[in-house]
Amino acid sequence: MINSVIRLAQGALSLIFFAILGVTGHVDTVTTYRDSLVFVTDIGAAGFTTGEFINVHRVYASPQLIAHEYGHVLQSRKLGWLALPLTAIPSMAIAAMTTMELITFDQGRAMWPESWATELGDDIR
Ligand SMILES: [Zn+2]
Repeated sequence: MINSVIRLAQGALSLIFFAILGVTGHVDTVTTYRDSLVFVTDIGAAGFTTGEFINVHRVYASPQLIAHEYGHVLQSRKLGWLALPLTAIPSMAIAAMTTMELITFDQGRAMWPESWATELGDDIR
């Protein structure tokens, strides 16, 4: 029950977020990947997900990145609300360390939960 409520709230907030991006001219394309919506935008470092929704930056959009981000969607589905502390926060920390150049992009991708997201995304291709 709690997971359903959280997913519903997360979905509603995500739709509002992407609607605002659309209205303000930041969304290039909206497409689908498997059963998720993919927004190609000009925001974010490379890619991120909000529950069922995938955002990829237009410069970095690729089938590999979208599959990786879909892996994060699958993590969210598998873990429910635990995805926030177990995958989302560590993933944001890795992204921050990459942006600050404390680690390389490849080092970040080798760390868990990034490695798991890539593995999950690759499994369904
Ligand atoms: Zn990732």
